[in-house]
Amino acid sequence: MNVHEYQAKALLRDFGVPVPEGDVASSAAEAREIAQRLGGKVVVKAQIHAGGRGKGTLRTPGGETVRHPAEDRPLGGVALVDSAPTAEEVAGAMLGNTLVTKQTGAEGREVRCVLIEQGVGIAREFYLALLLDRAIKAPTFIASAEGGTEIEEVAAERPEAIVKVPVDARVGYSPWIGRKLAFGLGLGKAHVSAMNKLAAAMYEAFLSRDASLLEINPLIETDDGRIVALDAKMNFDDNAMYRRPQIAEMRDLGEEDPLEVEAGKYGLNYIKLDGTVGCMVNGAGLAMGTMDIIKHHGGSPANFLDVGGGATAEMVTNAFQILLGDEHVKAVLINIFGGIMRCDVVAEGVVSAAKKVGVSVPVVVRLEGTNVERGREILESSGLEFLVADGMRDAAEKVVAAAGGN
Ligand code: GDP
Ligand code: MN
Repeated sequence: MNVHEYQAKALLRDFGVPVPEGDVASSAAEAREIAQRLGGKVVVKAQIHAGGRGKGTLRTPGGETVRHPAEDRPLGGVALVDSAPTAEEVAGAMLGNTLVTKQTGAEGREVRCVLIEQGVGIAREFYLALLLDRAIKAPTFIASAEGGTEIEEVAAERPEAIVKVPVDARVGYSPWIGRKLAFGLGLGKAHVSAMNKLAAAMYEAFLSRDASLLEINPLIETDDGRIVALDAKMNFDDNAMYRRPQIAEMRDLGEEDPLEVEAGKYGLNYIKLDGTVGCMVNGAGLAMGTMDIIKHHGGSPANFLDVGGGATAEMVTNAFQILLGDEHVKAVLINIFGGIMRCDVVAEGVVSAAKKVGVSVPVVVRLEGTNVERGREILESSGLEFLVADGMRDAAEKVVAAAGGN
């Protein structure tokens, strides 16, 4: 689960991570009030679940580029302004418009709230993150003196510019970690104590809230020598949300794919992708295999969907509805292995779902396993036009052709 920058910063502040003072606004008037209260220079920051806002571009619902109300240039998702009236204008220009960044895709995201923060003078920018390194099974700090830029590029081009410091979870946080980070960032002795407090607070926030990622980019040294988290991104482990109601409450459904939200209500494991072949599969492994073989035959999957091992006819119906709710789906592949679940039961579910939902695209069905003969009979005598496939390869070839080929 993802949260907004303002939510991540509020949480980090509670743990003692230094962040600029600020508050969130959902109207231009509110933005002005906050800016007035903060006084002096403020930063107006569009709150969307994507990074790269600083270099992003805003456009109106009509598709026009949004210009900076006080400067002669296009407006992005982060703007430093020197008065409350300008903060109001800039917030007004962001709210309700669409921000397109490297991370949003071409369709962008609507800006529905903005963070108004005290403007800070920057001496140096760094990158600092805490994440779970699954290879070494340890929460690990990743730091780089090349902050502000994209860390993926630094990692690819100059891996030596990245410092990795794992934390032994059995021991917990130790002061040598902050020391190593401070020196790794070229901060020197004077900053070791501040770095230690900050990293310890990050570790505590990360661990005690079941986070999976905590990224501060940039972490800055201010022009008066303080270390401050200027940006913050946090991801949380979905599987832990049952025991973190206060985190779960921060969820913003407006930032999530509507079909994924719908699928979640039915207990379906559904992830929307950008291809044209809708997939309904039982079991995550088979679902991965199905996506691979579709790709192998020149098609591209519109989604990952695991209906689970014990799917009922009702779940199959819901899954069908979700698949067909995606306008990019040109053909559907139902790939079921009947193990615990019998093929005849699946076939009945598919037939009743197809009758109920009304199918507008070709549907290829590949069934294998317990009662497969009976299952195929049900499909063939249903009066509906299923393309019954014989094996994975046949299924993939048929569905890719049905979706319009490669
Ligand atoms: P992102 O582009 O979505 O990652 O948004 P960030 O929060 O990282 O902001 C982008 C850039 O805006 C930062 O790297 C800073 O250079 C700049 N910026 C943000 N806040 C301030 C501020 O208070 N003062 C100054 N001078 N620059 C800021
Ligand atoms: Mn950033």
